Amino acid sequence: MARVYNFSAGPAVLPEEVLKEAADEMLDYRGTGMSVMEMSHRSKAYDTIIKEAEADLRELMNIPDNYKVLFLQGGASQQFAMIPMNLMKNKVADYIVTGQWAKKAYQEACLYGKANKIASSEDETFSYIPDCSDLPISEDADYVYICENNTIYGTKFKTLPNTKGKTLVADVSSCFLSEPVDVTKYGVIYGGVQKNIGPAGVVIVIIREDLITEDVLPGTPTMLRYKIHADNDSLYNTPPAYGIYICGKVFKWIKKQGGLEAMKERNEKKAKILYDFLDESRMFKGTVRKQDRSLMNVPFVTGDADLDAKFVKEAKEAGFENLKGHRSVGGMRASIYNAMPIEGVEKLVEFMKKFEAENLK
Ligand SMILES: *Cc1c(COP(=O)(O)O)cnc(C)c1O
Repeated sequence: MARVYNFSAGPAVLPEEVLKEAADEMLDYRGTGMSVMEMSHRSKAYDTIIKEAEADLRELMNIPDNYKVLFLQGGASQQFAMIPMNLMKNKVADYIVTGQWAKKAYQEACLYGKANKIASSEDETFSYIPDCSDLPISEDADYVYICENNTIYGTKFKTLPNTKGKTLVADVSSCFLSEPVDVTKYGVIYGGVQKNIGPAGVVIVIIREDLITEDVLPGTPTMLRYKIHADNDSLYNTPPAYGIYICGKVFKWIKKQGGLEAMKERNEKKAKILYDFLDESRMFKGTVRKQDRSLMNVPFVTGDADLDAKFVKEAKEAGFENLKGHRSVGGMRASIYNAMPIEGVEKLVEFMKKFEAENLK
């Protein structure tokens, strides 16, 4: 059995150790005689799994006691609605649109109130992060929304926007646990886990307690109220139980690697190998303004669509999977999440050098 180097943007590579451990526990989870997939979410064994997962995440991110951690379903996309439904008390929110995911969140919020697009980088195909030091934040905005790492375009906020005292809400799907974070700067941090943490089906929401209220927009379904999930410790209904179990294993794996400081160091080292090559290559070019480059998603092009296609095809044959860029932008994209080993990036660059030598006219 050979594992490939999987550069998928999501669902994405997971640590091999975690997959092996899950395989070992598949038929008999620690003497219960059953798989975690088969056990009651109200059982003692499962209670330990979800509580440990939360405790480990709290430790990793240094989450203060006045924040709740919720394990929910519906993907990151469901949060696009759940956020305005729960937080739009004045029915006003400001959105910074730096890519497709932020745009979708903005469009969804428009269904529920007055969503203002206060900054955007769409004029240059989202290849940069706009200056957010002095934006026209609305007087009565309930929150300011960002997508912190833009999975499709490969940009990342290196400094958070100046929200002028308003609550910051951030989609961190594709940079979750990739580096240390100061949770106190945010009202809500959320992300689908299938990019950097676990299997699709779980979305983690870290939310400051004062934002969790009964005062939600009329018609908000019970399942879309933060309060119901917070009051029930994410067990109001059956949670995505197996997915949470894998997330818990990934949290332990990150702790073993040395936590978020160590992840950051590793991720910077990995990204540098690829970006340094892109900067010197005569064939491949990064598509993003340098100071806004993501550590997680690295888009690049040759400038020739046929050559891009040839590269993706030959890379696949050589064991480098899912390098095709997002269907909306073309070219290539290497997603190099936490679980991508450094050798994966080194070998990819070796392969790119060889391809360049063979194909440069
Ligand atoms: C993938 C992604 C989403 C959408 O996630 P789903 O779980 O498929 O809804 C949203 N935001 C970002 C930043 C993403 O990378």
